Amino acid sequence: MSYDKFLPTITALDRPFWDSVKAEAAAIQRCDDCGTFRFIPRERCSCGSASATWAPIAGTGTVYTYTVVHRAPTPVYQADAPYVIAHIALDEGPRMIGWLECDPDDAAIGMPVHIVYRHVTDDVSLFAFVPAATA
Ligand SMILES: [Zn+2]
Repeated sequence: MSYDKFLPTITALDRPFWDSVKAEAAAIQRCDDCGTFRFIPRERCSCGSASATWAPIAGTGTVYTYTVVHRAPTPVYQADAPYVIAHIALDEGPRMIGWLECDPDDAAIGMPVHIVYRHVTDDVSLFAFVPAATA
């Protein structure tokens, strides 16, 4: 597979997240001491604990905010413009930034969404969000 857009630089710290995305079962860190979910992956919780478990998430949330990209960073992205990049407030609490795959005119703060998986190369899968009404 060839993929012309940016790919994440996967590190030991975030490898479990990207593996979970590839498996279509996204998991994020949950603090073993206070129970707080966190994203992006970090070595310590805001409570100070260094102990965390990768916990599956429901993959559902709402649009916290979004932007419609009209002038993309590269010609490959420009071919998709206008497109929507959104902060999604996960039901578990943390926010994730990702593509919101919908007509830009349909994007709205508070819109319920769910995660979808895009297997873009043999090694890397990405996530995006779609309106919850979309199968
Ligand atoms: Zn904690």
